Amino acid sequence: DYYIKAPLKRKESKAIDKNDIILGKRLGTGGFGTVFKGELKEERGGRTPIIIKKAKEFGEAEVWMNERMSRVSGSHCAEFVTAFDEALNVPLPEGAGGRAAGAPAPPTWSGGVLDSGAIWLVWYYEGDNTLMSLMEKREFPYNLEPLLFGRELRAPRGPVRELVTIKETMRQLLTAVAACHANGIVHRDIKPANCIVSTRDKKLKLIDLGAAADLRIGINYVPNEYLLDPRYAPPQQYIMSTQTPKPPPKPVAAFLSPVLWGMERPDRFDMYSCGVTMMQMIFSHLRNDNNLIAFNKRLQELRWDLSSWRKEEEAKLASGATKAALADGLAAGFEALDADDGAGWDLLTRLLSYKPSDRPSASEALAHPWLTSAPGRAASMQR
Ligand code: ADP
Ligand code: MG
Repeated sequence: DYYIKAPLKRKESKAIDKNDIILGKRLGTGGFGTVFKGELKEERGGRTPIIIKKAKEFGEAEVWMNERMSRVSGSHCAEFVTAFDEALNVPLPEGAGGRAAGAPAPPTWSGGVLDSGAIWLVWYYEGDNTLMSLMEKREFPYNLEPLLFGRELRAPRGPVRELVTIKETMRQLLTAVAACHANGIVHRDIKPANCIVSTRDKKLKLIDLGAAADLRIGINYVPNEYLLDPRYAPPQQYIMSTQTPKPPPKPVAAFLSPVLWGMERPDRFDMYSCGVTMMQMIFSHLRNDNNLIAFNKRLQELRWDLSSWRKEEEAKLASGATKAALADGLAAGFEALDADDGAGWDLLTRLLSYKPSDRPSASEALAHPWLTSAPGRAASMQR
């Protein structure tokens, strides 16, 4: 049997299927499926806004990761409702999301008679804003304030107030990432577009767990290179070195011991992506795709030495070689990172380290002075 029995039962009393869902506007089509807005018909006649992803591939893994994370307290990911097979229109059996690495795909969910269709994954609608869509607006990071704090901060607009919001965003991102890691899950697609800023809960949550790996069980362990977004992936691209033995073909619970986790530091894959996300919040020009790609290319040429990149950029700024459109943003970014005795620069440099073991874990990053020192605390500005 390929399936791993999930430890807990789903909480819904009635199974939801296609007939309970009204498909709405298509939000987008990625390589692995199509995402729609929609509504869930409630038994008492109400309608609840939802998001539906019809997954062509990797749907099973995404179901598994969502089921796992929905059992973790603290709602670190968008709230998962259910998943079912489109063709069969039946909910996936408990734990069906879990197929161990190396195991062949089962022909159907119900015993080998019919081909399975697309897998529909359903989440509660968490609002219109991803961190990316907010970053693309001129008002960033002020447009985050009502979403994270419930209202606008009182301090005058400027770098100090902006840092309060950027730090809070990083805290929430790192908290969500730490929760994944504490449960053996490496997300592998951390980026602003996969951070939903929930209007239901006024906080940042992770979405898009289709590329995630459950390292305790081995699900999605063998990375599909083409799943990784090169703009955010660390230099190594792989979560583990090639020396690590391949996972067994059949699931072995906790096959990755804490010792191996500690040696290989698979979680540090996500930490690099957190670093790129922090770069984009700090440096406005990097919110533009072409600029981000150019930055990555240059960093690679400089063997991922962020200090060399900084020296280069500062030399260009001093000589007036930087395009006017970029100059202000760059200078403001360096200034922001140098505040608090350079704490921001220190954290950023660590997150973007070439060697995974030089990057902090998510919980270590949360304890970094840039995120714990008093001036950046939102509370001090809300008073
Ligand atoms: P893809 O594989 O296409 O990147 P995602 O899971 O990232 O799929 O979802 C695509 C988009 O759909 C997101 O960028 C976001 O705008 C929206 N979205 C996804 N889940 C939710 C949710 N729970 N609530 C609101 N919007 C969502
Ligand atoms: Mg996505």
